[in-house]
Amino acid sequence: MARPASWEARLARERAAIEKVAQRLLARYRTKFPENDRVPVPIDDIVQFVGLRVTFDDLVTMGFVEGVLAGTYAPDRDLFVDESLDPVSHPTQEGRYRFTLAHELGHWFLHRRGEQLNLFRVGRRVRIRDHYPRTARIEWHADYFAACLTMPRADVQLEWRNLMGHDSALLCDRTCSYLRSRVTFPPIRFTTRSDWHVATVMSRVFQVSVRAMKYRLDELDLLPDQDGVRAPSFLGY
Ligand SMILES: [Zn+2]
Repeated sequence: MARPASWEARLARERAAIEKVAQRLLARYRTKFPENDRVPVPIDDIVQFVGLRVTFDDLVTMGFVEGVLAGTYAPDRDLFVDESLDPVSHPTQEGRYRFTLAHELGHWFLHRRGEQLNLFRVGRRVRIRDHYPRTARIEWHADYFAACLTMPRADVQLEWRNLMGHDSALLCDRTCSYLRSRVTFPPIRFTTRSDWHVATVMSRVFQVSVRAMKYRLDELDLLPDQDGVRAPSFLGY
């Protein structure tokens, strides 16, 4: 069933507002450190730039709810990350780690003055609580902020152009042979799903998970729709 237009319009407005906050942060960072004007976006450095301190720990032991991978205690500017995401001891978690940091930055910029008061100290322990019914929406905001920060629109479009040689969306039936002839990243395992091929290649450029990359490419109208085609999409909107 089609959603009412007003719902979609509101979603689009929310997304645009969140993306603007992420773009502003990245622009501030890149103005100060123009030498870091490259992808992958140096999320660790941006966290430092913002003035947050990352600490790895076993969050369950610290009192966080099971399954929570990170949390920020705003008054002390402490950003706690579960040790299972430490990219030094768990290099395969690098993409998740980066996205998680960016997600916490999303909370920092979007929610710390308002509703995200869910972190508070109990003695020396930190507990996370959900006091409000809008948690899911807030988490969505932070995820979207993370996508915009780790995969900035302009950089994705540039890398897409570099990879594909054009600005248009992927056309399914051309993709496999096209990529095989162009991609030299080692080692890419091609599957039968062409959209995943592209997402895999691009995810390595941006150091995010393939799933996150695919979602972002899809959102930017660069992947085929369910029929394997999409009307040519011209970038720069
Ligand atoms: Zn969150």
